[in-house]
Amino acid sequence: MMIPIPEQSLVLLLGPSGSGKSTLANAHFLPEDVLPGTGNETRLHEEVARRLARGTLTVIDGVPLSAESRRHYVTLAREHHVALVAVALDTPEALCLERNRTRTGAHASPKALRNQVQQLQNALKGLTKEGIRHVHVLTPETVGAVAFEHRPLPSRRHDEHGPFDIIGDIHGCFTELRSLLTELGFTVAPRADGSPGFDVATPAGRKVVFLGDLVDRGPGVTDVLRLVMGMVEAGTALCVPGNHEFKLLKKLRGKDVRVGRGLAMTLEQLEREPPGFSQAVADFIEARSPHYVLDDGRLVAAHAGLKAPMHGRDTPEVRDFALYGETTGEADAYGLPVRADWARDYQGQAMVVYGHTPVPESEWVNNTVCVDTGCVFGGKLTALRYPEREFVSVPAQHEYWASRSHAAP
Ligand code: GDP
Ligand code: MG
Repeated sequence: MMIPIPEQSLVLLLGPSGSGKSTLANAHFLPEDVLPGTGNETRLHEEVARRLARGTLTVIDGVPLSAESRRHYVTLAREHHVALVAVALDTPEALCLERNRTRTGAHASPKALRNQVQQLQNALKGLTKEGIRHVHVLTPETVGAVAFEHRPLPSRRHDEHGPFDIIGDIHGCFTELRSLLTELGFTVAPRADGSPGFDVATPAGRKVVFLGDLVDRGPGVTDVLRLVMGMVEAGTALCVPGNHEFKLLKKLRGKDVRVGRGLAMTLEQLEREPPGFSQAVADFIEARSPHYVLDDGRLVAAHAGLKAPMHGRDTPEVRDFALYGETTGEADAYGLPVRADWARDYQGQAMVVYGHTPVPESEWVNNTVCVDTGCVFGGKLTALRYPEREFVSVPAQHEYWASRSHAAP
């Protein structure tokens, strides 16, 4: 049995006295990552909060077996956007009793133990309902074979220092993408070996960061995909997915999605490609990290932006924010979600570069900037050069798509 432990997790070890919690913690985690779950709760919660804010893996050995105790940890994990993993030791009462009899040091009385065993059985019925997403139950038969796989977070790419050319929403505007890359000093040519795709020569040391929404609405979706996938494979570009890629992924995986006109254009273009290409596109989208933290934490790239406490975190909430942005839960006159203005309140140290919502001109707001300048709507395609903080744009050749306020999405 393998239990994945993301780099920044809160791990709760649950079980009655003598069930083997401390033994398990000892065998699989570093002593500095393990905190005893008993003692002064307020102080413990403060320490856990401090650790989670720093993103330090934290294992609680022996969370008191009440729903109330677990609730605090559910809240803490949510506030700090870290994974919450419960590992329950379902060891029979008789075995716990036997072990406690022969062990030295403090442990529960037989009466207290019986109560704990009962509490654990009750808890096991509803841990996921309490908001604990990852629940693993170990028994004396399985505990010996368990392995914990510590997983680095895909968003953390501190070692990537650029310089970068960060390109906003392309939406199938291949002609403009090629012009922009040329303007930036890249050379785009058809593949020398005759296979479909492009050879892109990069100016010394530079890398492209694509901010997602490569697909839908525009005429050159498959060329854009080929170019971006080729550059990512060659290591000359990074790419985060946009909400349009996620919807396409669902469709390609056979899920039931409402196909609007923009997505229909992508699907038509994909149908003209050799078999296997759509599969490769789906795999490419699925493999992308929803955001990146680059250059020792100084730069964050996400399709719809990201507020500071979410940088380098990886939960469904963080992914949704990076893909769709922050919404107020209300709809505007066109039925589109009203967006909350996270950038106006942003106080983080990292520069955040994003797209998603077309703007007429890229403008700095508190060290954040949107580089979606609505190319597919007849605006322009924009790149931010980093660290130079220069904008480079090429105008759209056409208005490929009527802008939001005139048409349904
Ligand atoms: P905790 O109260 O849940 O933290 O339980 P401990 O990990 O302290 O274990 C209680 C006693 O059971 C100790 O003496 C351990 O050596 C013993 N013990 C724990 N796990 C195992 C196990 O998997 N196999 C055996 N044989 N003994 C165990
Ligand atoms: Mg213990």
